[in-house]
Amino acid sequence: MSYDNSIKAFEEAYRVIPGGVDSPVRAFSSVGGTPPFIERGEGAYLFDIDGNRYIDFVQSWGPLIFGHRDSDIESAVIDAVQRGLSFGAPTTLETDLASSIVSLFDGIDKLRFVSSGTEAVMSALRLARGYTGRDDIVKFTGCYHGHSDSLLVQAGSGAVTFGNPSSPGVPADLTKHTLLAQYNNIESVRKCFEDSVDGIACIIIEPIAGNMGLVPADEKFLRELREICDEHGTLLIFDEVMSGFRASLRGSQGIVDTKPDMVTLGKVIGGGMPVGAFGARAEIMSHLSPEGPVYQAGTLSGNPVAMAAGMASLQKLIDTPSIYDELEAKATRLMSGFESAANEAGIALTTTVRGSMFGFFFSDKEVGNFEDALQNDSDRFASFHRGMLDSGVYLACSAYETGFISTAMSDEMIDEVISITQRVMREI
Ligand SMILES: *Cc1c(COP(=O)(O)O)cnc(C)c1O
Repeated sequence: MSYDNSIKAFEEAYRVIPGGVDSPVRAFSSVGGTPPFIERGEGAYLFDIDGNRYIDFVQSWGPLIFGHRDSDIESAVIDAVQRGLSFGAPTTLETDLASSIVSLFDGIDKLRFVSSGTEAVMSALRLARGYTGRDDIVKFTGCYHGHSDSLLVQAGSGAVTFGNPSSPGVPADLTKHTLLAQYNNIESVRKCFEDSVDGIACIIIEPIAGNMGLVPADEKFLRELREICDEHGTLLIFDEVMSGFRASLRGSQGIVDTKPDMVTLGKVIGGGMPVGAFGARAEIMSHLSPEGPVYQAGTLSGNPVAMAAGMASLQKLIDTPSIYDELEAKATRLMSGFESAANEAGIALTTTVRGSMFGFFFSDKEVGNFEDALQNDSDRFASFHRGMLDSGVYLACSAYETGFISTAMSDEMIDEVISITQRVMREI
């Protein structure tokens, strides 16, 4: 496989864009080599500017559950574009998309749209703090909630990949209210409540963590978080920017019983366009401007083209919820194939599936938190990634990311990928 055009494009990009990319993980730093520059996508495939074709398990990092160029989403977008790109005034599209989402999530009466997952979480935190009148928040090591200042502490994939857990440019004054707990470890959460002087506004968690590899929270752990929050008047926020409409139609709520007080969403709800959202029960949301005093705004929030793409995606998912069983069956088929290929090659591999999400670690033990995840063999991951890419399989370029199945992937494609995997596992 030749990457000549991408190598040249990367050099040119490097001159005018830091690291040649607009989001760090795209740079392939942890696996080496040059990221392929993409020319177009079609169904399950990506095509790069050297004419190479890849089966795409990254799906723009989650949003594209129907693969590239889904015809329903594409026509909804074209239709919206022909009415105007943005108005900065309300449209009924926003109400339609909000109603669809609210009807699926128990305890979420209202939500507001923003333009990214980062913005959704940042706004949700402000609202949680404004609502409770407290400053401290609890987050878990290895969970990623976007790159806003107070959350950029031990933030999983991007940060780990660069060995740079928190970032210069974030004043300690801004993170001093962020208390860190260990994922799936309730004692560490209790400790945060003991340590907090001012009281804890919220616990924020990815109930199905996807940014330290795929590491779902234990059901019991989530129930205990709920109890602790109720006991202290603390809000429980589920960050489902990735798992919402990916793990199941109702995200984590479709899999476990625990209900959060607030939910943040993004990725799939924009169908490939920039969208985020945060929601809660009406009483909490009424604290948000203009109903209440907590300020939050956005020139392009609820953008009509993005809303149309999101609505077209969600409508298809709502109309055919069996999609998730099919996607999960494919993800399971792929992960069992990876496991047997690794077994045959005498390599330790542990895998996880949640709906259309899959994850694997080159490790011989179960991964329940970030510290476990760090025990994986990342050199082996890098060789595996390279071998797969050179064979036309586009996997996330970090050992701490989640993979995604789209409806455009057939069982035959999965089987083809499995036979490539058998060869690559033998070679690494
Ligand atoms: C991707 C992601 C975010 C950030 O979303 P952006 O759209 O990249 O800003 C926040 N939380 C989780 C769980 C995510 O996976």
